[in-house]
Amino acid sequence: MENKVITVTAPLLPSLDDFLPYLQDIWQRKWLTNNGYYHQKLEKALCEYLKVPYISLFTNGTLPLICALQALRITGEVITTPYSFVATTHALWWNGIKPVFVDIDPITCNIDPDKIEAAITPKTTAIMPVHVYGRPCETERIQAIADKYGLKVIYDAAHAFGVEVNGNSILSAGDMSTLSFHATKVYNTVEGGALVCHDENTKKRIDYLKNFGFAGETTIVAPGINGKMDEIRSAYGLLNLQQVDAAIAARREIALKYREGLKEIGGIRFMDDMSGVRHNYSYFPVFVDAEDYGMTRDELYFKMKEQNILGRRYFYPLISEFSTYRGLESASPYNLPIATQMADSVICLPMYCGLTPQDTDKILNCIFQQG
Ligand SMILES: *Cc1c(COP(=O)(O)O)cnc(C)c1O
Repeated sequence: MENKVITVTAPLLPSLDDFLPYLQDIWQRKWLTNNGYYHQKLEKALCEYLKVPYISLFTNGTLPLICALQALRITGEVITTPYSFVATTHALWWNGIKPVFVDIDPITCNIDPDKIEAAITPKTTAIMPVHVYGRPCETERIQAIADKYGLKVIYDAAHAFGVEVNGNSILSAGDMSTLSFHATKVYNTVEGGALVCHDENTKKRIDYLKNFGFAGETTIVAPGINGKMDEIRSAYGLLNLQQVDAAIAARREIALKYREGLKEIGGIRFMDDMSGVRHNYSYFPVFVDAEDYGMTRDELYFKMKEQNILGRRYFYPLISEFSTYRGLESASPYNLPIATQMADSVICLPMYCGLTPQDTDKILNCIFQQG
């Protein structure tokens, strides 16, 4: 299979045999959405798995970002990172909020707490960091800044499903955290997402917001949107939850194999495990130092492509480079030197449960043969 295409990711699918009885049950119940049986079951199961008290399911991972900002009544300016998937900043835009980009830390690729205070103005109301690649932000330092200036903190935890720090869920940090269950993520419900909060009243408000603002048959308490997760994907999600630990274990093996092979190669940097962290191995980014390695990032990226190995330049370009945002003062590359450098040197290697040892050998060989 010389020419087999190795994709950067592949979805975790439940067995069809297991899924069919769930579908038959849903057909019998004739209740397809609006907080149905499987929706309630999945919320409960996810609370247990993720070790959080309150979770609200959504139809994707972007609406919880938009609704978190609504639920907390965020306005004005929000401090965020340019090194993420565009949805993080788009959620601010959809709320009429001005994003203020702050540079990242070169080791973790997460927002650099040392640079947050200088970006705070009288209009700042919140900080929206991202646990990039599922690696925890410096949540205590970010919280200390938020407390000092009276700001809310909303974490985009789309990459951080199941990540724990010293036995605690990373989702317990900040005021709220959002998850994505998109097909390409560690845990998926085809499309899907969730918003995690810390008290019952807030959970209620979020549930109104995701259902047009309905708090009763004829009562609308807020101008809500439709963000509801349906029964079919909830049932699918219950099944995928049963195999996510095995999937994460398989990803860990692949990460260990990559690290073992890559440590011999000059000019290629990768990320190690952090102490006290339960990682989910959602991505495997490598950073190319063109001088030491002998090839640029793009040269390696296209060479891999020629050999049918589809890496992804995540996250390149930076969000701040897109036309909607590039006019902002904080979007200047001079304000974001580290993020610019990381975006210019990163390739995410293929990473998914089902990637074979032959695949990883082929990928490592390709990177090993410079030029
Ligand atoms: C995937 C992702 C999202 C959006 O999730 P969808 O489920 O695709 O809407 C948001 N933020 C980050 C960082 C993501 O990677």
